[in-house]
Amino acid sequence: MNLLEMVKDAGIIGAGGAGFPTHAKLATKAEYIILNGAECEPLLRVDQQLMAQFPDEIIKGFEAAGKLVCAESALIGIKGKHKNVISLLRERIEALQLSDFVHVKELADVYPAGDEQILVYELTGRVVPEAGIPIQVGCVVINSETALNIYHASQGKPVTEKYITIAGDIPNRLTVKVPVGTPVMAVLKLSGIDEFDNYSVIDGGPMMGPVMNQLNGYITKKSKGFVILKKQHSLIRKKSIKPDQAKRINRATCEQCRMCTDLCPRYLIGHDMQPHKMMRTIGYSLTDTEEQKMSYLCCQCNLCELFSCPVGLYPKAANMMIKQNLMEQSIRYQPEKKEYAARVNREYRQLPSKRLIARLGLYDFDKPAPMTETDLKPEIVSIAICQHVGAPAIPIVSPGERVLVGQMIGKIPEGSLGAAIHGSITGTVMECENGFITIRRD
Ligand code: SF4
Ligand code: SF4
Repeated sequence: MNLLEMVKDAGIIGAGGAGFPTHAKLATKAEYIILNGAECEPLLRVDQQLMAQFPDEIIKGFEAAGKLVCAESALIGIKGKHKNVISLLRERIEALQLSDFVHVKELADVYPAGDEQILVYELTGRVVPEAGIPIQVGCVVINSETALNIYHASQGKPVTEKYITIAGDIPNRLTVKVPVGTPVMAVLKLSGIDEFDNYSVIDGGPMMGPVMNQLNGYITKKSKGFVILKKQHSLIRKKSIKPDQAKRINRATCEQCRMCTDLCPRYLIGHDMQPHKMMRTIGYSLTDTEEQKMSYLCCQCNLCELFSCPVGLYPKAANMMIKQNLMEQSIRYQPEKKEYAARVNREYRQLPSKRLIARLGLYDFDKPAPMTETDLKPEIVSIAICQHVGAPAIPIVSPGERVLVGQMIGKIPEGSLGAAIHGSITGTVMECENGFITIRRD
């Protein structure tokens, strides 16, 4: 079996949160392979610790992926502030005799350094076309946990576990490895909080993660972290606004100062995303769908809503509303430009992470979340058949059947984009219903 087949068999998907099946991403040719180790979401601490703990495995997995796509160069993007990790990576690249191919590139501590298109620009100077993907400029980007999983796949080990940071206004900040399918509540309780009535939980980083309506879900291969905050925290209140409330507030108060546009990371790399125009569309009920198409260019980084707008409005929500409306009419964005260049003042409009953290009211919680061994061994896991971009996996086990950890329990439907799933504990299948395969530990 070649490495691409091993990656496919191991059920690897983008561990950074996007969930795109990795075998499909690697079935191409690229000039650069890029490792996304930026981890720009405040408070999350997975990638930086994985690179410190498993440098050889990550470098080898990354190199193998680079060879697979016939890359000329493999670039690791990591924030310059992680000095120890950078020295370690450089030392191990040297020791593994890969310094002709793998290079560590330092990134500024800004948000959103880990946005795929921003990362490509920072490391190669190339601008991914509007509504495009990195391969259009000869780049393939994978996350550091994905590279670790590629290494494991090369050793015959599928994805059955996930690394997760638990952060926020809690007694125990930590990063843990748990079986895929573990009940979210069991993971949240590692925070030292047992009763969540007065808390809200953000699924993922504080910038892009949504506030969870229910805490009774299960860990997926895409889970990256949970930020637990008191219900009355300003970030929770801001993120919990309903779309119709956001629309009403947007209509009433936008002063068209265009700060949201001037700081928009996608606008700054030369795309036409101009959220103040989408606010104008909402405010004056404008009907020019030609202009509205730019709403497709938003990467939902949330910078405009959570930092840029001086009066606390919701430009991203305006984008999403307009985009939804266009999608319902089957109106798509067709890029016209062939050449892109970053705006001249981009370098002066970068947002330092520290400033962002202070603005979000997270300064007191910006603390280490060390990798910790726990005795969390869930009795039952519920593994979603669709944790990825593409078609749901087809269960290949039945209730009553005994499965081993690492055994494939769901396969990719014939001819579809998708990812296989595997048992994350050894036990007996209880049910295959409602989009989950549930296993009880032996
Ligand atoms: S949404 Fe906010 S930042 Fe954007 S134009 Fe309106 S007032 Fe200015
Ligand atoms: S969320 Fe706002 S700042 Fe981010 S890309 Fe969209 S419009 Fe730009």
